[in-house]
Amino acid sequence: MKDIKSLFGSMVFNDIVMRAKLPKEIYKALKKTMSQGTHLELDVANVVANAMKDWAVEKGATHFTHWFQPMTGTTAEKHDSFITPSGDSKVIMEFSGKELVRGESDASSFPSGGLRATFEARGYTVWDTTSYAFLKDGTLYIPTAFCSYSGEALDKKTPLLRSMEAIDKQAIRILRLFGNKSARRVITTVGPEQEYFLIDHDMFLERPDLVYTGRTLFGARPPKGQELEDHYFGCLKPRVSAFMKELEEELWKLGVYAKTKHNETAPAQHELALIFTTANISTDHNQLTMELMKTIANKHGLACLLHEKPFAGVNGSGKHNNWSLCTDKGINLLEPGETPYENAQFLLFLVAVIKAVDEYQDLLRVSAASAGNDHRLGGNEAPPAIISMFLGDELTEILEALESGNDYHGREKDQMEIGVTVLPHFPKDTTDRNRTSPFAFTGNKFEFRMVGSTFSIAGPNIVLNTVTAEVLRQFADILEKSNNFTSDLASLVRTTYRDHKRIIFNGNNYSEEWVIEAKRRGLSNLENTVDALPAFVTKKNIELFTQHHVYTESEIHSRYEILMDGYCKTLHVEALTMVEMVNGQIIPACIDYQNDLAKLLDRKKRIGEYDNSLEAYLLERVSKNSAILLKKLTNLENVLNETKDNKNDILSTACFYRDKIVPAMSELRLIVDELETIVAKKYWPLPIYGELLYSVV
Ligand code: ADP
Ligand code: MG
Repeated sequence: MKDIKSLFGSMVFNDIVMRAKLPKEIYKALKKTMSQGTHLELDVANVVANAMKDWAVEKGATHFTHWFQPMTGTTAEKHDSFITPSGDSKVIMEFSGKELVRGESDASSFPSGGLRATFEARGYTVWDTTSYAFLKDGTLYIPTAFCSYSGEALDKKTPLLRSMEAIDKQAIRILRLFGNKSARRVITTVGPEQEYFLIDHDMFLERPDLVYTGRTLFGARPPKGQELEDHYFGCLKPRVSAFMKELEEELWKLGVYAKTKHNETAPAQHELALIFTTANISTDHNQLTMELMKTIANKHGLACLLHEKPFAGVNGSGKHNNWSLCTDKGINLLEPGETPYENAQFLLFLVAVIKAVDEYQDLLRVSAASAGNDHRLGGNEAPPAIISMFLGDELTEILEALESGNDYHGREKDQMEIGVTVLPHFPKDTTDRNRTSPFAFTGNKFEFRMVGSTFSIAGPNIVLNTVTAEVLRQFADILEKSNNFTSDLASLVRTTYRDHKRIIFNGNNYSEEWVIEAKRRGLSNLENTVDALPAFVTKKNIELFTQHHVYTESEIHSRYEILMDGYCKTLHVEALTMVEMVNGQIIPACIDYQNDLAKLLDRKKRIGEYDNSLEAYLLERVSKNSAILLKKLTNLENVLNETKDNKNDILSTACFYRDKIVPAMSELRLIVDELETIVAKKYWPLPIYGELLYSVV
């Protein structure tokens, strides 16, 4: 049995290591920078860098890298060695404070959405002191933010940190109103649950669609899908179990709080949940988790699929983003408290989130929009594209009682006139869960379930933090001016709930009635990425982000462009892959099969006395469907051709992909899947769904 306690965090330059390795004064100065964002003096940085390097070299490291999160969906790194010539044909290992704090990197190959003019190719990486440095594969990783020469954010981390500051500022104002003088910061806490598929690696390599696009572009449904529901929480197969064990250990070494692992609903689908921590560290950890899932799977002869919808007709993968607010003293602000005062404060934060989600439904939808997630949202396993909130019956009743002026538990003398004296603790067990809700209150946090499995969680949390910060700002503005805090507070809770309760829906979000009901309530229903993304650049939303200094206006426009462009490029690669597979693999298979059938028919005809009805029937069926295949292929090739020399703006281009390319792809898929069931197995050039989904034993 490994010593997990000493394993955990053993590759992290964390607080324990800092305390042990740094002189007291330096440690104090660094902690101050970490917790208060104060400037780090170069002499301090030099000492820290040297201690880091000594610690890393002791553990076998030779290189360091500034690790950052550009707008590509993955992380980026450039490795430099610690080696410095010492003048006598020898080298010494060096690492300066300057190298630790700031790096220069050629940024021209990362998406910038026009932010970084090409003549200014330099980008900078700046040490993010709020996330610990760590060691991986002989390299010291320094988490950094990535920005352009003129200071615009080119990454996902910078706006996340800004949004955490925004909500901190406003939440503290609220806490002060409730007489809390001790809390110095309010921190966003996040715990992501990551879904993924594991399939056999050899089969993965036999599918160009999986290799190029991460999802199967063809594939008929297997006789057995997930209908027997025998996979969810089922026992782990030995190969999967060995993979998970290694994954967990590697994550623990990096200080990642891997906690729960289990099989998910679909065959070959699994989930890993991390214990929550600050939104920033959690984002880093989720990126590391996804990366390690892929590399460790390879080591075990497996391929890890992180795509939102690797298999049509089978549940897709999402990422549940559990989100809450916590003071630096460890008090969860979304946890009902012990006293009426605490409960009033809880209710105020609760209605703030309700209002924020209602007023900025479109932005939350934007934060979950991508070509991959379009296959999932609105499907039968994922929440619909409509944002609503689940509060549970009990909490809804409390708010209803407050709104109508009826006391929930009766008011006692000397209690706050908020109407609620004692709030019950809400059950956290799974029985009370509404798993169809895109945004559910689960006892002491909210769970945002629309996020796609490949996403960085930075985006959704930037939105959650900023929209909530905005409502808290409005609340603080009102209450700070109030002459009667108690009654103004009560009426603020009441009116906010009254005005925004349309967003609350405790029923089945998958039902068709809900779509109609949501429309009646005036909720937005942005069905796909192209419908959703323009919401990012509306006047109202630009004002929101700029006012809270989360994005500048040009940063918003650049991100909008990058997201739209990403949508088009994803579909373009998928369509090209389809064309290549049909031309190179599917058509030859159909021809071979027809050829053999025709030869047999011919022979039978020559002999003359056998019944040839089966061969004739099969040959006719393959021929007919092959002709349809050609038509659908030509159609896709034609619409793809239209995208060449395209001079349209990004929105019309994206509309073209959505309205022309996607349907052409679907039609081509349909006929290929039909052919898969007709052409004899030995001719079919691809591993089929049944094999892919049940390949790991
Ligand atoms: P369950 O297992 O019933 O879904 P858990 O309490 O185990 O609920 O939480 C699921 C996820 O929510 C985990 O990733 C967990 O770390 C996270 N989580 C729990 N509390 C918080 C919180 N206060 N803030 C953010 N995430 C949280
Ligand atoms: Mg969950």
